Amino acid sequence: MKLQDRDKNHIWHPLTQHRTAQPPIGIVKAKGALLWDEEGNEYIDGIASWYTAMYGHGHPTITKAITQQMETLDFVMFSGLTHEPAVRLSEKLMEVLPANQQKIFFNDNGSTAVEAAIKMALQYHHNAGEKRDTIIAFENGFHGDTFGAMSASGLSAYNGPFEDFLLKVIRIPVPQEKNSEGVLELLKNSIEANKCAAFIFEPLVQGAAGMKFHSAAGLSALIESCQQNDVICIADEIMTGFGKTGKTFASHYLTHQPDIICLSKALTAGMFPLSITSCTQQIFDRFLSTETHKGFFHAHTFSAHPLGCAAALAGLKLLQSDEIIKQQKLIANAHENFVQKIAKHPKVHEARCKGVILAIDLAVEMERYGNLRDRLYQYFLEQGILLRPLGNTIYVLPPYVISEDQLQKMYDSIEGALAIV
Ligand SMILES: *Cc1c(COP(=O)(O)O)cnc(C)c1O
Repeated sequence: MKLQDRDKNHIWHPLTQHRTAQPPIGIVKAKGALLWDEEGNEYIDGIASWYTAMYGHGHPTITKAITQQMETLDFVMFSGLTHEPAVRLSEKLMEVLPANQQKIFFNDNGSTAVEAAIKMALQYHHNAGEKRDTIIAFENGFHGDTFGAMSASGLSAYNGPFEDFLLKVIRIPVPQEKNSEGVLELLKNSIEANKCAAFIFEPLVQGAAGMKFHSAAGLSALIESCQQNDVICIADEIMTGFGKTGKTFASHYLTHQPDIICLSKALTAGMFPLSITSCTQQIFDRFLSTETHKGFFHAHTFSAHPLGCAAALAGLKLLQSDEIIKQQKLIANAHENFVQKIAKHPKVHEARCKGVILAIDLAVEMERYGNLRDRLYQYFLEQGILLRPLGNTIYVLPPYVISEDQLQKMYDSIEGALAIV
C-alpha cells in the first residue's frame, strides 16, 4: 500500500481539515533543494520546509556532526547536568547575536521558545513585586500555537475556540514609513493606560502573515519607547534568523536591540527540533535570589538536546562559509531582478524581496486557505515545485544551496501561475 493510503488510517495532520484536504504527498527522500515522492516525482523545496533546511536537505556537514555527537553523548537531561555541545553553542551564539544578549535558555521548538520568553517577561516584573498583565503585539503576527504564543499571535481566524482563555494582548499595526508616528503614539498610549509587561514582534518580516515587511526605523522607535518604560522587548526571530533577511539576524537592522530573542527553525539547519530564548544580563539577574521560587522554574524534557546543539554548531559554521555567503548574495540579486521584472504585471499587486525572501501579492481577492490558494498549490506541485501560498501571497524562501537553474524554474512557474489566476 502507498504511504498516502496507509497515512489515512491513523494520522491526524497539522493545519488540516481532513474532510476536504487532498491526501498528503508521501516523501521518501530529500537532498539539497530537492524532495522525491513515492511515485518518483521530484520537487524543488521552494520554502526550505518552512524555512528550516536552509543549507539544503541532508547536508553532509550537518549529518556528520549529528552522527559523531550520537556516538559520544546522545542525550542527558539538562537540569543539574551540562555538556560540551550546549556550552559551545552558547559561546558561538554570543559571537553572532546582538551584543546585549548574554544568556541562553534552551527549549525544543519555536512555540516553546516564545512561551519561555513571555513567561520570563512576566516573571521579571513579578520578581520585582510589580503586577504587569498585558502583552503588546503586532496585528497579524504569528508566534506559535501554544497558549502564550497563540495569545500573542494576531492571525486569529483559527483561534475562535480558545479566545476566552488567552492572555491579555493589545495589538498595534506594524510601523511603515507613512504611519510610524501614529503607531508610536498608539504604543505610548497603550503603555500609559495598561500594565504592559512585554512587547513581542517578528522583526522586519511577518512570516505567516504573508512575508509582510515593515520599517526598521519605526520598529527601533517602538523598542526605545518600551525600554524607557521597562517593557521587555521580545524579538521572535524564529523565521528571520540565520541570514534570511540579508544580515545574520533581522535585529541587526535595528538601532535599539531587543531584550529577549527567540530562535528555532534554521537554528539546527532544519535537522533537529531545538530552540533557544536568549536574554540580557539584566533579565537574568532579576531571577537571582536566595528565595528559590524567584528562579525560572520552566523546563522541557529535551532542553538543549546534544544532537540538536551539534547540528546548530555545524549550521553556524556553514552560515559563515564563503560558499553560503556567495549563495545568499546570488539569491538576493536574482530575487531583485525578478521583482523588477514582474512588479508591473497586471495580476501583481505588490512584489517585494529582502535577502532571500521573495513575496508576490496577487491582485486578486481570495480567502486565506480558499480555493485559489489550493489551485496554486496544486499548480506548483504539477510543475515539480513545493510552494505554500499564504492567502493571495506567493512566497519563495529557498535553501541557500539552490542552483540558479532551480531558481529560474521557480520564477518561470510563478509567471505561469499569473496566467491562470
Ligand atoms: C514557526 C514559527 C513559530 C513557531 O515555531 P514552532 O516550532 O512551529 O512551534 C513562531 N514564530 C515564528 C515567527 C515562526 O515562524
